[in-house]
Amino acid sequence: IGVVAVFHDLTAIRRLEQMRKDFVANVSHELRTPITSIRGFSETLLDGAMQDPDTCQEFLKIILEESIRLQRLVGDLLDLSTIESKQMAMNFEQLSIASFLQNITKTLDEQARNKEQTLRVEIKEDFQIRMDPDRLKQIVLNLVSNAIAYTPAGGEIRVQVDQEEKDWILVVSDTGMGIPEEDLGRIFERFYRVDKARSRESGGTGLGLAIVKHLVEEYEGEIKVTSKMGEGTTFTIWFSKE
Ligand code: ADP
Repeated sequence: IGVVAVFHDLTAIRRLEQMRKDFVANVSHELRTPITSIRGFSETLLDGAMQDPDTCQEFLKIILEESIRLQRLVGDLLDLSTIESKQMAMNFEQLSIASFLQNITKTLDEQARNKEQTLRVEIKEDFQIRMDPDRLKQIVLNLVSNAIAYTPAGGEIRVQVDQEEKDWILVVSDTGMGIPEEDLGRIFERFYRVDKARSRESGGTGLGLAIVKHLVEEYEGEIKVTSKMGEGTTFTIWFSKE
């Protein structure tokens, strides 16, 4: 039995080591892409492309977009490492779920309208929760931004909250493209994307859902996802009221 246990430990250690290596490789790759682009376009501008105002404008726009992507990626990486090392400060506050959602859905509403989508917030009755508003905001923003990004024009995004005896429930659903069944189990992994090109297009870092899952676990909550291709996706989170 002793030998078997040691053997198991070794495989677990090897697996962890492999995961760490994969993560470093992924991060390097994700960082390299925007850096290469920023460097390439800056060099071309300095080599003479600046003479043409249109080209100049176009290249500078790309440089700005790629810088924003880098900034978002570094921000998400820092958040993830802070949550994982359990160093994230939690400032619990008593919140009214209705006013909390009203406050944060203003910017999301604009994002949805820009894509000709409708954002609906449904609260049967207001209730109080005790949470860190910044962390809850991060959870909702990540899920709703994804819903907007992966839903075509004309679609509908819904945010619903409800309460049961012991839990309160947050549901974010969309009428978007859906997630293939074989990918559902992996979308919470760092850098896992169903469609790399679309994720890039939407400015995604591939870390949003990993952050959401970690935050939910930090609150001892549970997150589940269901999806149907071409019909839409629903994320449901259960938080304990205590
Ligand atoms: P990304 O920055 O790529 O959006 P996330 O971690 O937020 O990274 O999501 C991981 C992947 O899960 C996405 O690349 C996308 O393929 C898929 N995904 C997430 N939310 C949705 C959704 N609402 N509808 C369809 N696919 C989604």
